Amino acid sequence: MHDKTVAQLGAGLRNGEFSSVELTRAFLERIEKHDKTLNSFITVTPELALEQASAADARIKANEATPLTGIPFAHKDIFCTQGIRTSCGSKMLDNFISPYDATVVSQLKSAGIVTLGKTNMDEFAMGSSNETSYYGTVKNPWDTNAVPGGSSGGSAAAVAARLTPVASGTDTGGSIRQPAALCGITGLKPTYGRVSRYGMIAFASSLDQGGPMTRTAEDAAIVLNAMAGFDERDSTSIDKPVPDYSAHLNDSLEGLKIGLPKEYFDEGLDSAVGDAIDASIKEYQKLGAEIVEISLPNTHLAVPTYYVVAPAECSTNLSRFDGVRYGHRCDSPKNLEDLYKRSRGEGFGDEVKRRIMMGTYALSSGYYDAYYLKAQKIRRLISDDFRKAFEKIDLIAGPTAPSVAFNIGEKNEDPVSMYLSDIYTIAANLAGLPAISIPAGFVTDRPVGLQLIGNYFEEARLLGAAHQYQQVTDWHNHHPEGF
Ligand code: GLN
Repeated sequence: MHDKTVAQLGAGLRNGEFSSVELTRAFLERIEKHDKTLNSFITVTPELALEQASAADARIKANEATPLTGIPFAHKDIFCTQGIRTSCGSKMLDNFISPYDATVVSQLKSAGIVTLGKTNMDEFAMGSSNETSYYGTVKNPWDTNAVPGGSSGGSAAAVAARLTPVASGTDTGGSIRQPAALCGITGLKPTYGRVSRYGMIAFASSLDQGGPMTRTAEDAAIVLNAMAGFDERDSTSIDKPVPDYSAHLNDSLEGLKIGLPKEYFDEGLDSAVGDAIDASIKEYQKLGAEIVEISLPNTHLAVPTYYVVAPAECSTNLSRFDGVRYGHRCDSPKNLEDLYKRSRGEGFGDEVKRRIMMGTYALSSGYYDAYYLKAQKIRRLISDDFRKAFEKIDLIAGPTAPSVAFNIGEKNEDPVSMYLSDIYTIAANLAGLPAISIPAGFVTDRPVGLQLIGNYFEEARLLGAAHQYQQVTDWHNHHPEGF
């Protein structure tokens, strides 16, 4: 059962081949058995899951099921879940039980999903390897010496190891796509504003976007159908009808123009990863796509721009964790200043502190113009590169990450080399564009991800292109040994 996709499980549930309670038990057993090794969950919620599963079974019997009714699901621990601890991977929120559900959580709940628990993540979603989590490193199921990527590394590892058929993730600079690539699964970051950010703990509000992490593009379409939509409680949510993402999966790719940015194939790219990407581009040619070389000339500015904008926004967003309203509070504070200082000093880990310091510096008077304002101007240039490219092409293709999964500990001493693992993903966040990572091969037994970037609100086109690639390749069906 655990090897089936969401689409297959949904059909099995509706045809009465198995019940949601049986399915949920099977996944809970797998979590019990394998998560001691992987550490992909921070919290498992078996009682809630079984309760929701029997409600789902009743709904299926009554013929009121949606495609997600009765499907086990894991949420990244950045989404607020009523009555369940929502830690954001931080000691700061280790004791935080959310009093309400994020919009994404409530929408999926009304579709009938079964909540298995909350997945591990880099602290406050800052990281590319899941090593900054207060709850410890997550292991990559393809090789437990390797990182799963980050920050949605728990979700990616859990889907890859078949501990859940689907999980939610969030992507501020690559945190859905990069771990999806490193764990050999499918991960979609929608257009900024397509999925509500209400109740999704904020890292960098102008970049954060939630999305699905699944085995296949077909599944990502099913989940996005339930996740997307306007939310009046999120001021940057977009009021635009949600198309049926499952309806266009088989639209022909004949004549589709795919642009290959020459800057994404430079010396920073591991050559074996480059070979796998070249092979996947050939598959697209066979499917009828036309390949065009393009240029995104400001690509080299994306990482430095992001590391001004994201820390600036996080330094203001994280000021709310002050030891007063909720979250960690130090013991016996001497006065208010001591309370703030020690609560924050004890509650946040090193990477979060580094970002708060960078951001506070970039926003401080005298430096604001030189850093923050400048970064916003470059951000516009990066969006303009894409705007011009999309005048000539329909989709952009390239690698998701410059290498396959690296070893645990390998990049810990050098934050800049860690930051560069998002070199191909960050620009889509700065521009607000949708992008997907799909499995496209292996290098030394570790998965490679192909990234497709689309124009605004072209999720359906991205999902269709990904789905058709998955009809002619089987990288997404490979199963990590031992899980
Ligand atoms: N790895 C990037 C960072 O550390 C992106 C994280 C994310 O997308 N949440 O900020």
